[in-house]
Amino acid sequence: MTELLKNHLGGRWVAGTGAGTALFDPVLGTELARVDASGLDLRAGFAFAREAGGAALRAMSYRERAAMLAAAVKVLQSKRDDYYAIATANSGTVKNDSAVDIDGGIYTLSTYAKLGESLGERRFLLDGEAARLAKEPLFQSRHVLVPTRGLALFINAFNFPSWGLWEKAAPALLSGVPVVVKPATATAWLTQRMVHDVVEAGVLPAGALSVVCGGSAGLMDALEPFDLVSFTGSADTAAVIRSHPAVTQRSVRVNVEADSVNSALLLEGNAPGGEAFDLLVKEVAREMTQKSGQKCTAIRRVLVPEALYGAAAEAISARLAKTTVGNPRNESVRMGALVSRAQLNAVREGLAHLQAQAETLHDGAKHPLIDADAAVACCVGPTLLGARDAAGSDAGDRLHETEVFGPVATLIPYRDAAHALRLVARGQGSLVASLYGDDARALADTAIELAPLHGRVHVLSPDVAALHTGHGNVMPQSLHGGPGRAGGGEELGGLRALNFYHRRAAIQASTAALDLLA
Ligand code: NAP
Repeated sequence: MTELLKNHLGGRWVAGTGAGTALFDPVLGTELARVDASGLDLRAGFAFAREAGGAALRAMSYRERAAMLAAAVKVLQSKRDDYYAIATANSGTVKNDSAVDIDGGIYTLSTYAKLGESLGERRFLLDGEAARLAKEPLFQSRHVLVPTRGLALFINAFNFPSWGLWEKAAPALLSGVPVVVKPATATAWLTQRMVHDVVEAGVLPAGALSVVCGGSAGLMDALEPFDLVSFTGSADTAAVIRSHPAVTQRSVRVNVEADSVNSALLLEGNAPGGEAFDLLVKEVAREMTQKSGQKCTAIRRVLVPEALYGAAAEAISARLAKTTVGNPRNESVRMGALVSRAQLNAVREGLAHLQAQAETLHDGAKHPLIDADAAVACCVGPTLLGARDAAGSDAGDRLHETEVFGPVATLIPYRDAAHALRLVARGQGSLVASLYGDDARALADTAIELAPLHGRVHVLSPDVAALHTGHGNVMPQSLHGGPGRAGGGEELGGLRALNFYHRRAAIQASTAALDLLA
């Protein structure tokens, strides 16, 4: 039997009482470890996090907590090799794709360590200026942001076991709020190991960081009024969380990052072979294949002027054809596996669902697998679909509404700029859209048109070709989240992320008392 990974709750390591759920290598099919959360005293563990962890964190200043994050960064950096080995085995990712998760997570944590330093020795934040409440400026109102007295529960998705933890934990811990993370079962090993390493290094106070692996039963029930929950995953589970009494009756604050049918838009007037056209082709192929398309921010719809449909289909397909797929341990492989058989089946079903309304321009099923047994490995080549003409792109509702969480995108022709914007809007709100062109005015105007529908607009022109951070890469300096079907959440965005973990209160007092808060 494989090792049963322990949970960390109530300041100690504790095994579940059940046999556990097995985690697998998605390429070799072998069992790696087991996780189980049955029999845990969640209420007592959550109380310890709130009382011991919360009190110890709040006793520190922002600068002290920033130093604590910097110490955690050092611990994680010293164990990177272990994390890469776990990612290869449990997520089936090639080294570059493991880096997006592992180094992306560590970078985000270190960014918050630096941002936190700038907040100094304070223990609460001021929000805006004082406002006069009476004729004379003697009695005023000033808003403050104070760390919430509860805990932050993170319910995370399978695709980012490292980054998904640290992009949330960094602002929470910096704010002085203890964290309980529940990673998605399929890839829980990496999250569990990172929490283990940081806890055992003793760089955080007891109760500041806990991990519960395995089932989610009882987690929401154990939440109390000042707690927070930050969820990343499917829209269906998001609906369960939003309708839980913890949220509807106890006002637990919720942030949701759900699925998203992100788009890339090549503006009119950019000919095949031009720099903007080439930027689009390169970015689409990269987004489709990085982490086998298992990124919430990946490009799913590619919009091009009607006349460029054939040229774009040809150029993107030519790039995809070069993608070698299979066992990530083989150096010649560029794209590894999906995380599980369940995901492989879901991608195949989603693809068939889209193919009813689209033609197949590049067929991923035809990619040979390198060093991997097709009967066992959860590997699949990248597939580019296409709506045949602009009328077809209007008719195909599935192309705009279905997120296939794998290496799949659809090329969609548009008639004119207004038509392109209408098509993008049919995604009903997304995490990110990217724009490609060389006319700064047109790019800026289109970015503002798209801003209400997206958490982030990534604008690519030839002058930033060598500098830009990537359509799907979530940078801690920028907002992550999106309106509508993307969940309506907001994460990151530099120090803005701290707002979620603080409560805002107005202090109405004499100017003399308010001056003491400054
Ligand atoms: P999922 O089934 O909703 O699972 C997400 C998390 O919720 C897992 O930890 C899961 O635990 C847990 N969970 C399941 N049922 C629950 C319940 N009743 N109560 C509380 N927690 C529960 O999502 P998924 O299919 O694994 O994840 C893929 C989806 O996540 C995709 O649609 C993708 O778009 C989205 N995603 C979004 C972002 C973003 O930032 N917007 C990032 C990554 C992924 P178990 O694993 O134990 O079931």
